[in-house]
Amino acid sequence: MLSFKNSSILVILLLITVLVLDQSWWVHVAILMVYLSVLVWGSIRIDSQFYTRAICNGKDDKPQIAISFDDGPLPQYTSSILVTLAREKVPACFFCIGKNIKASPELTKEIVKQGHIIGNHSFSHDAMFDLYSASSMQSELEETNELIFNATGKSVRFFRPPYGVTNPNLASAIKKTGMTTIGWNIRSLDTVAKDENILLEKLLKQVRPGAIVLFHDTMAITDRLLPRFIAGVREKGVEIVPIDQLINENAYA
Ligand SMILES: [Zn+2]
Repeated sequence: MLSFKNSSILVILLLITVLVLDQSWWVHVAILMVYLSVLVWGSIRIDSQFYTRAICNGKDDKPQIAISFDDGPLPQYTSSILVTLAREKVPACFFCIGKNIKASPELTKEIVKQGHIIGNHSFSHDAMFDLYSASSMQSELEETNELIFNATGKSVRFFRPPYGVTNPNLASAIKKTGMTTIGWNIRSLDTVAKDENILLEKLLKQVRPGAIVLFHDTMAITDRLLPRFIAGVREKGVEIVPIDQLINENAYA
């Protein structure tokens, strides 16, 4: 599989070869351009496994999926989403942001109390997060883990990178904290969607065994759409199960 390590070795060997063969300068530039494109692709595609292993789907031998909510907890929508999930008896995983946990520890506790799984989604979710040093990223992961533990008593293992972006520094921070990276294979794009009906139709078309769906519990459209999404999934004969069950991994240490 194409990884950061083996593609870097390959590029070094290629550059040495073209140097030895005395090729013109543009051959070097072309190789570096392709390499740069691969690095960017590896960063933005969490399912590429380029920098770090990420679980993006579960077993597909049963008609089961898992749903996840990123960026909360946010009182305005997380509370309402919890009501829907409880009414429908549907389990979910919430990848929470540390600063939001700090602001709403009781709501964080409620997520776990209601039987849902909780995971780490960094402390700041800063727009510049991917430019942070490995040690700053590690501190964010550890601080969030501590906040989750203080609110819920759970030592979390699941981490979802902010924006789904990975790079060598984040790979190092993940390794040092011993966390398991969880991606997705159905991105709802609920943060940019305008039309609830179009979004619902698009999502239900993609539902397939083993899928992990990415939602955000910070969006009004997600809150409104959730009951219809659950009904649509059930109509297809698909069950929504806890993510740890779908991927066969322990959510807590
Ligand atoms: Zn996020």
